[in-house]
Amino acid sequence: MVVVTYTRTECGVDFKNHDITLAVLNMEDIIHGHPKNFQINLGFQYEEDYLYCEDMRVCDLLNLKDVSSPVYVYSKKQIEANINKYKTAMKNSGRNIQLSYSVKANMNPSILELMRNHGLFLTLVSGHELRLALDLGQEPGKIVFNGNGKMNWEVDLACRSGVLLNVDSIFNMRQTIDVCKAGGYVANVLFRINPDINPNVHGYVSTGQEGSKFGISADELEEVLEMATTFEKIRVVGLHCHIGSTIREPEKFKQSTRVLVDLFNKLRSRFPDLYVLNLGGGLSIPYKSQISLPQKCKQVVQCEIDKNDDQEIARLYDNLLTSKLTLSTFLEAIKPLPRGKEIFLKLQEQVPSECLVPEPNDLLSSISDIIPPEAKVILEPGRSLVGNSAILLSRVLGTKLSKKKNFIVIDGAMTEVIRPCLYGAYHHVELAEPSRAAHLQNASDQSKLVWDVVGPVCESADFIGKDRLLFTPHEGCSIAVFDTGAYCSSMGSNYNMRVRPAELLVDGEKVKVIRRSETFEDMMKLYTNYYCFSQ
Ligand SMILES: *Cc1c(COP(=O)(O)O)cnc(C)c1O
Repeated sequence: MVVVTYTRTECGVDFKNHDITLAVLNMEDIIHGHPKNFQINLGFQYEEDYLYCEDMRVCDLLNLKDVSSPVYVYSKKQIEANINKYKTAMKNSGRNIQLSYSVKANMNPSILELMRNHGLFLTLVSGHELRLALDLGQEPGKIVFNGNGKMNWEVDLACRSGVLLNVDSIFNMRQTIDVCKAGGYVANVLFRINPDINPNVHGYVSTGQEGSKFGISADELEEVLEMATTFEKIRVVGLHCHIGSTIREPEKFKQSTRVLVDLFNKLRSRFPDLYVLNLGGGLSIPYKSQISLPQKCKQVVQCEIDKNDDQEIARLYDNLLTSKLTLSTFLEAIKPLPRGKEIFLKLQEQVPSECLVPEPNDLLSSISDIIPPEAKVILEPGRSLVGNSAILLSRVLGTKLSKKKNFIVIDGAMTEVIRPCLYGAYHHVELAEPSRAAHLQNASDQSKLVWDVVGPVCESADFIGKDRLLFTPHEGCSIAVFDTGAYCSSMGSNYNMRVRPAELLVDGEKVKVIRRSETFEDMMKLYTNYYCFSQ
């Protein structure tokens, strides 16, 4: 194994020319460059600067037959750990809670199989997701079908199969009644309520405020209830809300749960079959778990350590500075220590909130007291079950240095990871192997520089990360975009005629191709006037 030790004492770039968020800048990293040796989560870890997914060194995966870059790499262990965190929290809550996986986060059938094997329900948002769930053998009673605009065939399939159907509006109620009349079905209905709560997230993933296109507003509710009462084939079984995604405040779930529970209590005498409270999904994941400790925070920690001579905190802090701990792990580790809590609280104000986010346990503790014990609660997370279970593994095509900006151009792009361009979202990016460029004589190649990591798509919105502090990579160097298990592959596109990449599932030392890469022929076969296929 090549272990590269970086020795470099001056930085090779004029930082004044860069518009840098100082939070990512860390002089310590620039000067020492300790090889990374840390556990990111149960699925991914660094050993001597090489990134591993479970037992597999990820750069080696690109040499596998039929695998090319970019490729999504999933850890089975991490998905199962995410499920188990919810299950433990649900068990401890003392309430009757069912976990339902929100399929739109990632619909790979192998991932759905994993969810089904763990007894999860599936929450769906389209007729084709419904077909897929039924094809995989999911029982209709364990399916929630949702949507603010359903086509007649979708409502028909949902009612015919007997799934739990979320009704979203007056017109959706009328549509459901019409479909039931025509087909002679009985529909098991949940009302999706708009509780008018601001979840404090990007506007594009806020879904339960006044003015949102989702859910039944307070003004419309009575009319929908009236319609349901007058048609006997509508069986009202539950209430539903989903206020948004990437939520970082458990308090928001508490607020929406209160609204739903109040309504539940009010409506129970009117609708005797009412027993389900579907509280939606939306818990975030710590997208910034691996960022460097901001410079101003270092003084805080050092000062506390000097003042109290706390050996344990000093040891943990040294591990953070020498790349043996991620920032999130450091914060979690100091929190329970006698003197650590104080430092934790001070730092918490200064590090970005995406660094540490609430866990399923925090979510459940905030709501379990207000849930009626007789209700059956459904939680339907997507992101927090799969988001941190995957990386997009790419290769560096080349680097560009200029006065204003430095670019690392990789073969992954917005077509595989659209979240930065769509929501200004942060995805952590790191080299997946030691850079061989550090061996070069050019001094500037041996220090970390500030880069924009971008793809090859012809669109300036095609960036993966901005102002990232990274060593200069060699051409062909493997590079990982983290936390791409949710809303990346499922939101992928063929823009620029790029083929959608393969997906690999790592299970210990085993690697399974769970989706092959698309080909040029796959893309062209739908076009009628293309000579290869039109005869
Ligand atoms: C998207 C969605 C979810 C899942 O949201 P996450 O942020 O991925 O947890 C849950 N319920 C409904 C109705 C959704 O549309």
